[in-house]
Amino acid sequence: MVNLTINGQQIQAERELTILQAAQKVGIHIPTLCYDERLVAHGACRICVVEVKGARALMPSCSTPVAEGMVIETNSPTVIEARKEILRLMIENHPLDCLTCEKSGNCVLQDLCYEYDVKEGGFNGVKKQYPIDDSNPFFTYDPNKCILCGRCVRVDNELQCTGAINFAERGFDTHVSVFYDREFNDSVCVSCGNCVSVCPVGALMSKQPQKFRYWETQKVRTTCSYCGVGCQMDLLVKGNKVVGVEPVNVEPNDGLLCVKGKYGYRFLDHPDRLNTPLIRKDGELKEATWEEAMNLIISNMKKIKKENGPDAFGGFSSARCTNEENYLMQKLYRAVLGTNNIDHCARL
Ligand code: SF4
Ligand code: SF4
Ligand code: SF4
Repeated sequence: MVNLTINGQQIQAERELTILQAAQKVGIHIPTLCYDERLVAHGACRICVVEVKGARALMPSCSTPVAEGMVIETNSPTVIEARKEILRLMIENHPLDCLTCEKSGNCVLQDLCYEYDVKEGGFNGVKKQYPIDDSNPFFTYDPNKCILCGRCVRVDNELQCTGAINFAERGFDTHVSVFYDREFNDSVCVSCGNCVSVCPVGALMSKQPQKFRYWETQKVRTTCSYCGVGCQMDLLVKGNKVVGVEPVNVEPNDGLLCVKGKYGYRFLDHPDRLNTPLIRKDGELKEATWEEAMNLIISNMKKIKKENGPDAFGGFSSARCTNEENYLMQKLYRAVLGTNNIDHCARL
């Protein structure tokens, strides 16, 4: 442990922590844009700078380790002015589209500009003018809104491990790109959307089934039903409609999802979705009640068992069911029907 002082408060912290982590542990808020606790610290955005007594310059708290006797100020006038200047530089080269931007209300850049009262850059610099990549079926990429925090690149390379995106060019021309500046759909991207989930601004945005503002939605925590991993996610619900999905940073998925969990929710409202059982009558499928369907299944099962014995049955269950449902399924086949012919779709 080391002893240090943050904003006049004396604390102890494990020596392997950064200043940011030590501050977070005692509830002191330091703003961040490029930081993600799951990723190797990048120190790119500099919004987390703090004043360390005796240091020649402001230090990025996300990548500066604590040291014995450090005296740190996280909100001094120098720090606040530096953060304002960083924000001015960012928005100077940014289309301030907040009125129509889908990210508005859930944008870290917008929140920080509000917090630090920054309205314009004031440098009259050149602005980026890249085409918007709309090729992916699930998300769009607008490089003009990118603040080069690198979260998408690091999630893609360090956690998702697809390696679809990286930084291209240098200096003012630096931008996030798939191989050879092609389109997302012409790359090895698997559309997991994990880069979209971490983008702090509106550069990487999910395509939405209907327009919504973030503050109009309620989050409903649930477990992804596509496979047996059990990824935790929040459904964004507007009215009674699911309009988006966000991964939750807890086990087992630690803030990641695959394309099915992230984007495979539109079946919920799909017109082709079955809402009632169907029974074939005179060669045609007709809607039926659950009672009619269950009675038909039971009478046919009894008939088959009587005529052909229990091993005429085979039951296939699903990773999309809960453990309890799968338990009941095998119990039905083993104990009620009397056969061990029971299997599961995850064991192809
Ligand atoms: S990304 Fe954020 S700051 Fe930029 S236009 Fe959209 S809401 Fe505004
Ligand atoms: S969607 Fe997934 S695979 Fe594609 S670039 Fe983003 S993180 Fe990489
Ligand atoms: S696209 Fe988003 S996450 Fe990626 S570098 Fe730009 S701002 Fe950061």
